[in-house]
Amino acid sequence: MSSASRTFDAIVIGAGFSGMYMLKTLRDRVGLKVRVYEAGETVGGTWHWNRYPGARCDSESYVYCCTWDRELLQEWEWSERYPEQPEILRYLEHVAARHDLKRDIRFNTRVTGADFDESNNLWRVRTDNGEETAARYLITAVGTLSDTNMPPFRGLEKFRGQWCHTSRFPRGGIDFTAKRVAVVGTGATAVQAIPVIAQQAKQLTVFQRTPNYCLPARNGKVDPERVKARKADYDGIIERTRQSVAGFELDRIPKSVLEATAEERERAFDRMWDQGGFAFNLANYQDMVLSEAANDICTDYLKRKIRRTVKDPGIAEKLIPKHHFGTKRTPLDTNYYETYNKDNVLLVDAKTDGPIEEITENGIRAGGKDYEFDIIVFATGFDALTGPLKALNLTGRGGCKLDQVWADGPHTYLGISVAGFPNLFTITGPQSPSVLSNMPVSIEQHVEWIADCIETMRKTGKTTIEALPEAQEAWVAHVNEIVSGTLFPRTNSWYMSANIPGKPRAFLPYLNPEGIGGYRRRCDEIAADGYAGFALG
Ligand SMILES: Cc1cc2nc3c(=O)[nH]c(=O)nc-3n(C[C@H](O)[C@H](O)[C@H](O)COP(=O)(O)OP(=O)(O)OC[C@H]3O[C@@H](n4cnc5c(N)ncnc54)[C@H](O)[C@@H]3O)c2cc1C
Repeated sequence: MSSASRTFDAIVIGAGFSGMYMLKTLRDRVGLKVRVYEAGETVGGTWHWNRYPGARCDSESYVYCCTWDRELLQEWEWSERYPEQPEILRYLEHVAARHDLKRDIRFNTRVTGADFDESNNLWRVRTDNGEETAARYLITAVGTLSDTNMPPFRGLEKFRGQWCHTSRFPRGGIDFTAKRVAVVGTGATAVQAIPVIAQQAKQLTVFQRTPNYCLPARNGKVDPERVKARKADYDGIIERTRQSVAGFELDRIPKSVLEATAEERERAFDRMWDQGGFAFNLANYQDMVLSEAANDICTDYLKRKIRRTVKDPGIAEKLIPKHHFGTKRTPLDTNYYETYNKDNVLLVDAKTDGPIEEITENGIRAGGKDYEFDIIVFATGFDALTGPLKALNLTGRGGCKLDQVWADGPHTYLGISVAGFPNLFTITGPQSPSVLSNMPVSIEQHVEWIADCIETMRKTGKTTIEALPEAQEAWVAHVNEIVSGTLFPRTNSWYMSANIPGKPRAFLPYLNPEGIGGYRRRCDEIAADGYAGFALG
């Protein structure tokens, strides 16, 4: 291949929701020559990799989709309020086929490094199959929850049974029938998987490090009249979600929970609980994310629900979290708490029964006790947000390495750009709303902002754009200042980087007091102001 044919206008890394839309926009709207690299064998990202039983979205399907394809919004019929992984993957495959995306995507190809070549303002990209390509723009669409966290459990190599991580589940699935199964972890993934595995397995043992507040999903078919009404109002839905707190159409109660009477708030909580999903959320009352007293009122309600559902009071107490509601990613559940009423389900809690000490030939040793298993499923999550970006081995101006620049946590401008790394754009990067929102809405905002920026640069004859260090540090300070006034830093969560030993403690997403609508307005103002805070060359 000649060197000319290996130079693109833009290289995009990742082919999930983000990379697919980025490709579509840059290629078909801006008219660029684009190459996408994807480590997986097909499109879909999260929905290609996470094939564990019970995997489904927690965002409602009518807003968890590509709102940029207005015709498809009308044509596609989701089977449920929260579709399962195979259905979402089928949808994304359909999007790829309809827009002829695959011809520009190299599958089974992992980007292993990229250096900014200052002599001609090009990113030089290397892949694991030895390919070397170059492009003016490098856009990461690597996902926020894509870098599997597999803790180095002592003795794992000795285990004689089968084991897997939920995010790398075998394609054909696993038959749990008549098997003794362990699930390690109780985060959002485990909460989806546990009730399904418990139905099949002879014995299921759950190893819990920290419990979480789970909310009832209330999944099911959506009333056809409601579907029709939503389809008729998609323009409105798109506008409302874009300007919302978190990319959903949710009610807010514009007052302090402490101002409401006990009856009033019980009624409000009941109503949200009955609606299901994220209708019950941290932003309902104004102060639940800010004040311990306000949050306690909400957790009292949730604790009562757990105690009422779980029959054994001892197990119920183990399942009751100690942290503030909402400061960890809230799982949505379908029969999660009910599962602990089954005779074939055992809960081993690290605090009361003792933590996992090692994996043995026959199972797991925890709290000095041996448990025997045929299969171990690790639902231990991800090195969130910074993990997949650091793994890219990016080198910017003057040989600066991303992992060195981020040694004490992420430093970005708007979560979209990093000083010293010209023409690099990070879709849903750290310090952007990302995981605190319904992600397709945030993804589409970033993709459109990046495409507009590149288009403007081309029209004005600019070849480089990079964040100014002072603008970046002001953004980092802003992100940290906002979160320091909330309850988030009081909890050890992956939002706070606390799930990975040695990961510098930092709040990874960005919490805008005016929600993702406020963040969008800020990004738009910066663009309108000639990309304030960026140097254009
Ligand atoms: C189980 C699960 C459930 C979720 N449910 C929801 C939900 O209900 N609502 C919601 O808003 N969000 C949810 N999320 C978050 C979800 O990741 C996003 O909604 C969305 O799918 C992200 O799309 P993406 O394209 O940005 O990233 P991803 O879908 O993660 O895709 C990133 C892609 O980049 C590829 N990649 C990474 N590094 C490289 C490399 N070096 N070289 C080549 N390719 C690379 C990966 O293989 C992957 O395919 C969930 C996440 C998980 C794990």
